[in-house]
Amino acid sequence: MIPDFIDETALNIFVDGSSLPGPRRGGLGIRHVWVDAHGHEQSETEPFPYSHEGASNNQMELEAPIQALKTALGRHPPIDLADVTKIIIYSDSRYFVDNLYNARKVWPNTKWHRSGGAPVDNVRQWMELRRLCNRANQRHRLRVVPTWIPGKKGEYAKSVDKAAKRAAKSILKTKIDHQQVRRKWSPLEVTEGCIRPRGQTEFIRIVTDKQVGRNRVSKHIYEVVNEASPDHQLVDYGYTGLVLKAGHVYKVLFNDEATNARILEAEEWPKQRRFWDATVARRAAIVDALRYVGVKGVLLKAAEQGRIKEVACSMPTCLCPEGAGGRHYFERKVHPPIDWMPTPDHYPVLKKDDGKLTVDNVRLAHRICNRVDYAIQTGKPYQRDLDRVAEWERRWHAVREF
Ligand SMILES: [Zn+2]
Repeated sequence: MIPDFIDETALNIFVDGSSLPGPRRGGLGIRHVWVDAHGHEQSETEPFPYSHEGASNNQMELEAPIQALKTALGRHPPIDLADVTKIIIYSDSRYFVDNLYNARKVWPNTKWHRSGGAPVDNVRQWMELRRLCNRANQRHRLRVVPTWIPGKKGEYAKSVDKAAKRAAKSILKTKIDHQQVRRKWSPLEVTEGCIRPRGQTEFIRIVTDKQVGRNRVSKHIYEVVNEASPDHQLVDYGYTGLVLKAGHVYKVLFNDEATNARILEAEEWPKQRRFWDATVARRAAIVDALRYVGVKGVLLKAAEQGRIKEVACSMPTCLCPEGAGGRHYFERKVHPPIDWMPTPDHYPVLKKDDGKLTVDNVRLAHRICNRVDYAIQTGKPYQRDLDRVAEWERRWHAVREF
């Protein structure tokens, strides 16, 4: 018999997946082949005595290289990877061989959609394959090369085909599951339904990702990392047709059906905890500074929720001269009130439009800037206020020159 063609400088892996109907189940076969230090061709069939419940043929064709790479890159590889130049995976699946490049280089940029716009099937498996190929590259400087071979031709292809069919019939069962789990940042436990979908934009971090069913819907455990949110640190389940990865942070848009929570849109944000901790630290510094100048009540509450982004007068026109500190200059609150002390301004719904002073309808302002703005809005005189600003500015410069 003519020996199978293999690359003598590579770790050669022959894989096959199979699927049986009624009830549907799959099996996989893996055989590692290499040339040892003495020039002998060596091979090892990986024992895989499980059938995969509900798995389709394509899923098994992906699962075989996944498991093969996990073994090759794991703690007990069949050979020392330092001795080979690449990893070649031989498969009779066009689905696997033709799409591995897409999974590595194309789909991550299309948010896992095919060029026609349809979401990629078996996306968790493709992501896992991508992760393993990247690991081979980064840790071992090895390329993973998929190579198509005709099925059941040659000793190795035949042996993995047989192994896959045998595994599919096995009474030992398992499921394809590439769920990723990350440690929560929040001290709270997951509570189903604790976050009410109300069409809100939110910053969430995915704790687990899991594809449920074959309808491309994923069920995630996620936590709210935005300290400005009333739901900050709550941990809940969420459903989405989007591909969201465990350990990553997204700016998402929720639907507003209370009984059917869905994440409709998602945009990736920095996933480093220190980035989000820094935003918490910044918020605390703003709260401290506001307290120091005597801010209390709704404005302080808004700051505590991270809604006040800087200690600055946020009126459209700030009258405080730049030389004196401009928008950032505040004097401590006293009685009777003085011009440059902090006040809450009704915003975005203005006072003249019956806006109420609440944590989500307030911004920080100089008292005098606030007064003049309100006078302009309501057609009242404000020349005396402007005169006072001019006088104050004159005195300010006089003091500086002295
Ligand atoms: Zn101002």
